[in-house]
Amino acid sequence: MKNIALLGSTGSIGTQTLDVVRATPEKFNIEVLAAGSSIDNIRRQITEFNPSTVIMSDVSAAKVLDEEFTAVTVLSGQEALKESVVTCDIVINAIVGFAGLPVTIAALTEGKTLALANKESLIAGGPVVQRARRMMESSIIPVDSEHSALHQCLHGYQSDYDHPSQSIKRLIVTASGGPFRGFTAEKLDKVTLEEALKHPTWNMGPKVTIDSSTLMNKGLEIIEAHELFGIEYGQIDVVVHPQSIVHSMVEFVDSSIIAQLSMPDMRLPITYALNYPERSEADWGSIKWDEITKLEFEQPDFDNFLCLKLAYQAGEEGETAPAWLNAANEVAVSAFLNGQIKWVDIPHLIAQVLDSYDSRKAEEEHDIYEADQRARHIAKQLITGKVNG
Ligand code: MG
Repeated sequence: MKNIALLGSTGSIGTQTLDVVRATPEKFNIEVLAAGSSIDNIRRQITEFNPSTVIMSDVSAAKVLDEEFTAVTVLSGQEALKESVVTCDIVINAIVGFAGLPVTIAALTEGKTLALANKESLIAGGPVVQRARRMMESSIIPVDSEHSALHQCLHGYQSDYDHPSQSIKRLIVTASGGPFRGFTAEKLDKVTLEEALKHPTWNMGPKVTIDSSTLMNKGLEIIEAHELFGIEYGQIDVVVHPQSIVHSMVEFVDSSIIAQLSMPDMRLPITYALNYPERSEADWGSIKWDEITKLEFEQPDFDNFLCLKLAYQAGEEGETAPAWLNAANEVAVSAFLNGQIKWVDIPHLIAQVLDSYDSRKAEEEHDIYEADQRARHIAKQLITGKVNG
């Protein structure tokens, strides 16, 4: 039985992870649950999964739960979160955004298997995360569906060959295109929050849903793929595939392509990550070939979806540039969710923040936090100027 720390348990990935655990309870023991402030949801999860430790970022929620569940250790704060990984075999980092970075580094430094749904930590933390990963030879099993697909395409192939990267021509990351696929600049100028929150194929949390609508999610995933698989940016392409059945592909030097296909359900990549290197029986829906009658592919629109271009640029720049991109994006998306800026302002705001990028090297963990803070500060100033002006 594997002991699991599920960090971000009340979010979209967190609750779907619990579906996977519920389906095969003999395989997994939920040792740690961590959430923000959703006290009613975590209460139900504690009762059902009986974890030994619960961590809430909200201090008052932690107090309430501590009095209520005397057999459970209830804690709060970043240190508790980092220490919680020690007693577990697998750490599922499903925290939203940059806040997931300390957990990613802690899990890798402790030599744990990291099932990573928090792509932002890998993107922003780049070189620092890689060092932690190498030091302990810790493994990251991606939960992101595209990277799970790439991992699956690469895995069977690489096992008995010493130089797998020499066989890879390119990674082809698929994108649904989001709700605004095919929109002209005029139409994009008028899109609303409600429209941006309606994703055509995936049901996800608000941050990643907005990122999908701007294609920043795909941009971040390009950087994620580079960090996970060590492939150069010039060899990572994006193809729009509106049906979200082909989750990504690997093209080899002989032009043969291996793809991974399944219905769009995050519980599959979660099942894969939790059971790796084994495969577990799971029934999250098979493809019905009489219903899926066509699979379409088209080129992404780099001109109207500027975020994708910005992500490639920040990725190529390396060092703390991806941390700046990520921070600017998180601030822009939350300003959009709060009604402070328009959807079309998101890419322009990020581009403006990146204009101030100071080329700081990513040598230590604090370089990443400081880069993140600086980019956030500039982004917030720009928004204040915009709202007041
Ligand atoms: Mg994805």
